[in-house]
Amino acid sequence: MRILVFNAGSSSLKFGVFDGDLQILKGSFDRFGNDGCDQSLAVGNAAPERVRATHSDIGTAIAAVPGLLAEKAVAGLQAVGHRLAHGGTEFTGPALIDDAVLARIEALTPLAPLHNPAMIRALQLARDLWPDLPQVAVFDTSFHLSNPARATTYAVPSAWRAVGLRRFGFHGTSHRYVAQRAAEALGRPLVELRIISMHLGNGASACAVQYGASIDSSMGMTPLEGLVMGTRSGDIDPGAFGFLHRELGLDIPAIEAALYGESGLKALAGSADMRDVEAQAADGNTEAQLAITLYAYRARKYLGAYAAAMGGVDAIVFTGGIGENSASMRRRICDGLQFMGLMLDEDLNRSPDLSDRAAPRIHAQNSRVAVMVTETAEQLMIARDVEALLGRRTVTALAIPISVSGRHVHLSQQSVEALFGPGYRLTEGAPLRQPGNWVAEERVTLQGPKGCLHHVAILGPLRPRTQIEVSRTDSFALGIDAPVRNSGQLDNTPPVRLIGPHGHEDSTGLIIAARHVHTNPTDAAVMGLVDGDMVAIAVKSDDGRGLTFGGTLIRVAPGALTEMHLDTDEANAAGIDRRADGTLAANVHATPLP
Ligand code: ADP
Repeated sequence: MRILVFNAGSSSLKFGVFDGDLQILKGSFDRFGNDGCDQSLAVGNAAPERVRATHSDIGTAIAAVPGLLAEKAVAGLQAVGHRLAHGGTEFTGPALIDDAVLARIEALTPLAPLHNPAMIRALQLARDLWPDLPQVAVFDTSFHLSNPARATTYAVPSAWRAVGLRRFGFHGTSHRYVAQRAAEALGRPLVELRIISMHLGNGASACAVQYGASIDSSMGMTPLEGLVMGTRSGDIDPGAFGFLHRELGLDIPAIEAALYGESGLKALAGSADMRDVEAQAADGNTEAQLAITLYAYRARKYLGAYAAAMGGVDAIVFTGGIGENSASMRRRICDGLQFMGLMLDEDLNRSPDLSDRAAPRIHAQNSRVAVMVTETAEQLMIARDVEALLGRRTVTALAIPISVSGRHVHLSQQSVEALFGPGYRLTEGAPLRQPGNWVAEERVTLQGPKGCLHHVAILGPLRPRTQIEVSRTDSFALGIDAPVRNSGQLDNTPPVRLIGPHGHEDSTGLIIAARHVHTNPTDAAVMGLVDGDMVAIAVKSDDGRGLTFGGTLIRVAPGALTEMHLDTDEANAAGIDRRADGTLAANVHATPLP
């Protein structure tokens, strides 16, 4: 599929044409002024042609794109993709644009007043220029909607949170791409890896990608929080607002403007460009030296924080202009992390070859943590998202029966023997809907530091590893912080005590099951889905309340009956008593989160 992708900033416009993963054209306009703008255009892998063009703003620049495409004989466009900074909480994935969707995106402008307007304008202009092509928006925030509430919530008055004050995180398309690329380069499934992605460009952010899903990132409500950036401050005590107001008489817009545009490297070293700052530091400029050490220190703190958040780290990936090009900054950030088993290889770090989307390793042979570098490819990722969305639009509203799972355990033979005695065999009781699965006659007790849950069901058949599935409410009753995981993803899960008539066992494997839909290849094809898709399912309940559940994993297996599994908390929230059906909601997307 041939896709044109736009990435509009407040002062620049980048675009690319993709055919599958192949980029056939790459262009940009920036440095707009009265005399025009800098235009760069490259076909395939050829060197870019740079000229000073006459366009004075992004509107006239976009209008020139059809002519440039014709000049380079690039024809046959089938869709247009757009980067959007902010999709709020509602855009969990790419969205096909129509008037209603555009209005919903425009309504989110207060969340990103500096970023969304230029992107929306590019979208509107592109609709006028290519009225017959589908236009798709891909949001920087969507990837982070899998962050748990503890990562997205600010500890502030509820009235503030009620109007939407929360952490979102940005650069999601980049973090998603580099995490996938790193997993590919390591030859390991993304769903088995804990990755920290460090996007260090003019804007900079770190992201903890645990088993394929973003669980935290350093940018917050706005792209101001977190790392030191070119002109943005990153983390700062919010008490500074009052202090600056009292001491300097500054009002909020003035402080905000300075935190966005006059801070970061620019404030510390007089230039927002890391190349300048590094050159000045090498010449002995002590301000530039402080800027560099502070930049690296802040980044290293986030690496440590995210390693702690994920209970370890398997790989760190550097990307963005600084992450890709500054060997000394990568070195400074990683120095001091030897305690985590991270060792850089000096030679590999000095000049990694990033051509052809390579993701070379720069860690030493004996490093326990992989460290890699790769060029980010947000436009490529947008093109892939557009293709995935448009390729899957034959969705049929199949009724999906809802099955509510109470707390239960799956036991290994070793656990059965610890709880019920050597050689014990569970008594097969009532069959479950999924063929071959049953409830055992026996029950167990779960004990945590806060309390016990009695008469917990055991589901058969036996599994290689014991897995204990509870609801969020149950995890509070036990007093243990259970992570949301897919079945079988049990690394770094907390232990809980299982008590049976014969004895007890302290077993890891306590999880809150991620909501999912079991289905078979036939039904999946009818719904236009494949294994690993993440979808939203709208559930109607007898009491009329119902709920749409985002972040629902599709699991396709031959012979499986189509049904959605919810836990008791989810069912209660949706008002589901006994029977209910779900249907695929409109914002289906195919992002392969685990
Ligand atoms: P954006 O976020 O606008 O896409 P980039 O990812 O292009 O920005 O990153 C721009 C930053 O990368 C600038 O600070 C620039 O100085 C820095 N950079 C580019 N090349 C080098 C280099 N060789 N050494 C150090 N920094 C570099």
